[in-house]
Amino acid sequence: MTTNYKYLFGPVPSRRLGRSLGVDLTPHKTCSFDCIFCQLGRTTNRTVTRQDYVPTSAVIAELHDWVETDGSADYITLAGSGEPTLHSSFGEVIDAVKSVTTLPVALLTNGSLLGDSDVRTAAARADVVKVSLSAWDPFSFDHVNRPHPDVTLKGIYEGTWMLREALHGELWIEVFIAWGVNSIPRDVGRIAELIKPLKPDKIQLNTAVRPPAETFVEASPEEHLVSLAKLFEPTAEVIADFASSASPQVAANEKSILAMLSRRPCTADQMASAFGLHRNELSKYLGRLVRTEQVAAQSEQENSYYVAQEKDTQHARA
Ligand code: SF4
Repeated sequence: MTTNYKYLFGPVPSRRLGRSLGVDLTPHKTCSFDCIFCQLGRTTNRTVTRQDYVPTSAVIAELHDWVETDGSADYITLAGSGEPTLHSSFGEVIDAVKSVTTLPVALLTNGSLLGDSDVRTAAARADVVKVSLSAWDPFSFDHVNRPHPDVTLKGIYEGTWMLREALHGELWIEVFIAWGVNSIPRDVGRIAELIKPLKPDKIQLNTAVRPPAETFVEASPEEHLVSLAKLFEPTAEVIADFASSASPQVAANEKSILAMLSRRPCTADQMASAFGLHRNELSKYLGRLVRTEQVAAQSEQENSYYVAQEKDTQHARA
């Protein structure tokens, strides 16, 4: 595990990518979107400005160290606390990975900057580019993704189409379904129609199995996703990890987190630091605890504190 790194996390088990080493290229919630379903909470810096948000040399130094000391994963994935293509040197990071390992590189992006030819050129160096597309018209786009004003749905589709032409690797599309928001088959069918010309290698359906930014967002039932999957060509895979909380490792980490919160409320950052986990890893455990009402979030002076709920506090102390 990469507990001593600042920009690397995991490798984390992923239904999409097997064991995936995450590379985080932005500060927390620096993104061009503020999606209602974001598992990282609301966007605090909604921007389309590209810059070196974290030092490229430090990221590359950590990658070199990880390859020398461990180097075992199925993918190295540019993802994390925000939109990775906002980092102006993300292509350099892809090149650096490829210079030290043969592991494939995946880029997870919301596609908002793919209209920029520099972004496309850099993205095309990845082995897999996964673009999230969960809306079918400007209204649904504004409602679901709450984009920066400079970003349009049309621009994302056009940018993704141009990337498709330049990409030697695979194009995957992820559609996030929020129950009652974009889950009606007619609307999902419209998304499927928009995606079809992009000729993606894979289409994946996800839903809110972890706590979303907005409490009104609910997970779609698994059987509904399975039925929506047939609307796509190729048929979509359901990747929402309904069963992830069943693994022994998750159970062990949930227990430790609950025991800590039974002693004092903590922010997500405090817990991530205490357990040596990246925020994304922490959210997997914390999300399950919140959903099962063992832990609740409380706002205090612009911070969200997590608090163990009474009946489970006693259980955790036992
Ligand atoms: S889900 Fe992705 S694109 Fe949407 S706000 Fe979160 S980090 Fe940004």
